[in-house]
Amino acid sequence: MKKISKTLRTVIECTLVVLIGGLLISLINHIPTEKEPEVKNIIFMIGDGMGISHITATMIEQDYAPLALERAEYIGLQKTYSANNLITDSAAAGTALAAGTKTYNGAIGVDSDKQPVENIREVAERLGMATGVVATYAVTHATPASFVGHVESRHDQDRIAKQFLDSDIDVFFGGGQKFFSQRADSLDLVAKLQEKGYTMSTSLEGLADVHSGKAGILAARKGLPSILKGRDTFLPDATTKALEILTANAKAAKSGFFLMVEGSQIDGEAHGNNLEGVVAEILDFDAAVKIAFDYADTHPGTLVVVTADHETGGLTIINNNNRFDVAQNPYEYHFSTGGHSGGMVPIFAYGAGADAFSRVLENTDIPTIMKSLLTE
Ligand code: MG
Ligand code: ZN
Repeated sequence: MKKISKTLRTVIECTLVVLIGGLLISLINHIPTEKEPEVKNIIFMIGDGMGISHITATMIEQDYAPLALERAEYIGLQKTYSANNLITDSAAAGTALAAGTKTYNGAIGVDSDKQPVENIREVAERLGMATGVVATYAVTHATPASFVGHVESRHDQDRIAKQFLDSDIDVFFGGGQKFFSQRADSLDLVAKLQEKGYTMSTSLEGLADVHSGKAGILAARKGLPSILKGRDTFLPDATTKALEILTANAKAAKSGFFLMVEGSQIDGEAHGNNLEGVVAEILDFDAAVKIAFDYADTHPGTLVVVTADHETGGLTIINNNNRFDVAQNPYEYHFSTGGHSGGMVPIFAYGAGADAFSRVLENTDIPTIMKSLLTE
């Protein structure tokens, strides 16, 4: 009897050891590993016309004080050519970056057969995410338009404005009053947006008490002024406001968000071969990049991708007298064109999923990768 009870005790002890051991192993298996969290939010930042030399010139003019851009953990390059031209315009490039489709210059959100192609903001919307665009030209201008509309010609901004009304976009901040309320068909789209639940304003200050929901800012008839002509901090401030509202809306929907922020006027200054203007616009864009990177630091699961749609001005930094003696004649800036150029442009990626962009890519690969990160 005593012997049986001793055997029984051993069996019970062994069973307990196995059970507790199993429990421990299962606990260890469920401790979260340090792998990057899945991508929940995407902030896609496009410096229109921002080539590597424009960024370099900005660094030089700042005595190499680090730009926020330089915090990027993964750097890539992208090929910018369009379906019908080695030199892209902002519409074809915008469509490539938004929808992952090469198309003809001038096309907004349609392919070479003029058929609509779904853009990454619409994908996000379809997945139940909050979405928005921020720009300093009209929100109907080529780059932001490519994330909202589908028209055969970039010049059809009245129609693009109407497509904002037809979308489910949460926030759109920029210029473009003319295309919403001074239209050829005399429709008042601002009133219609208000009926649909949007808080509409002509300034950021007008949204001071708005912290969630749907909102639009049309802060100029067409584009806002350039930095040199007094735009001040609209772009970084609008980025902060968009992130605040999108964060609240995404939380309410138990989802994430997609935001496109454009440094719209780097391009315009480069078309004018105005180096001082290019530098001022890049510093302004970089202030918005800092806000996005800081957001990613405090909100795990946020991916920030910063790139350009093409290079503008063919900017080079040269020493024309062939003397490499820095003390003699350091350098000069030279624009080779008043148009766009065909060189590759940089990609700076930060946060969740950023490593996927550390390659030589087609412009069309960028939204394709974003889509796979959101849906995998
Ligand atoms: Mg643009
Ligand atoms: Zn341009």
